[in-house]
Amino acid sequence: MLGLWLLAGLVALALFLRLPGRVLLAMLGCLWLGIVLFLALLPEAAPARAIGGTAAQWLLAGGVAALILSYRALLGHLRARAPDPQPAAATDDGSMSGAELDRYARHIVLREVGGAGQMRLRGARVLIVGAGGLGAPLCLYLAAAGVGRMTLADDDTVSLSNLQRQVIFRSDQRGEVKSRAAAAAMAALNPHVEVTALERRITGADAGLIAGHDLVLDGTDSFASREAVNRACVAAGVPLLAGAIAQWEGQVTLYDPAHGGPCLACLFPEAPAPGLAPACAEAGVVGALPGVIGSLMALEAIKHLTGAGQGLRGRMLIFDGLYGETRTIHITRRADCPVCSTPLAALR
Ligand SMILES: [Zn+2]
Repeated sequence: MLGLWLLAGLVALALFLRLPGRVLLAMLGCLWLGIVLFLALLPEAAPARAIGGTAAQWLLAGGVAALILSYRALLGHLRARAPDPQPAAATDDGSMSGAELDRYARHIVLREVGGAGQMRLRGARVLIVGAGGLGAPLCLYLAAAGVGRMTLADDDTVSLSNLQRQVIFRSDQRGEVKSRAAAAAMAALNPHVEVTALERRITGADAGLIAGHDLVLDGTDSFASREAVNRACVAAGVPLLAGAIAQWEGQVTLYDPAHGGPCLACLFPEAPAPGLAPACAEAGVVGALPGVIGSLMALEAIKHLTGAGQGLRGRMLIFDGLYGETRTIHITRRADCPVCSTPLAALR
């Protein structure tokens, strides 16, 4: 049966050369076709006898092989089209389902997070302000990490100039409302988390909304908006993890005056002079910078919610992308801060 030896030799050669499956199949198909034609046209020739079998037998064997391969391809196609498994209903005792244990396995083996930390993430409620450059990695990493309930506020729509850095959106989503488009991406990434999209900005009067959350993450890029979010967070007594970027440099800190740290107004009591702190649209920003700072914010949020390590309360981490340097400075609360010095100041 020279024919079978030829086929086996071809398979061995393909495995040795690590050829892709498709190439091997094409080579086997060509060899098979050659054998069938040879046996059909020259059945009595000496090489044909050495091959073994008849053209009809080789045709039948080829047909059976084709049927098996088609069946496997169909199964693979159906599996790929099957909808993602829905999150398993919460177990009766509130513990994680098998799918969640599997999904968060790399967190659970971390000593500082573990099963208890993952449960804290699942029970956490965070408000993400701004679904822009910083919001993109924040939303994706916090959804992936399994932060149970997230509110995402943004009143903007996706534009072409956003796509250079806001990697949560796709080109065909131009014109869509950012909060809803980002919420859909988060839900697609992790069906175990709940995301509420708000198509509006957060103002200084939103202390009520903020009070329903454990942590606020601010990734907006105007002083007026950051000042308003800070004021509402101080009034609600909720810590604020804030990130800021411009050109090649970014910074992250945790404003938490309820636990002795400063608030934004302790550091910047007044709006910067016009032109001194231009927004990204005017000053420009390198595309990967919000990826770095937004990811640092997500990391600090996970630490804050699980209690791992040392957070950035009273410290500001500054990253200089142009020179590849980071430094941390200490920041302190001001006794005469116009916002956090008295509980009522924030409401003014
Ligand atoms: Zn303050």
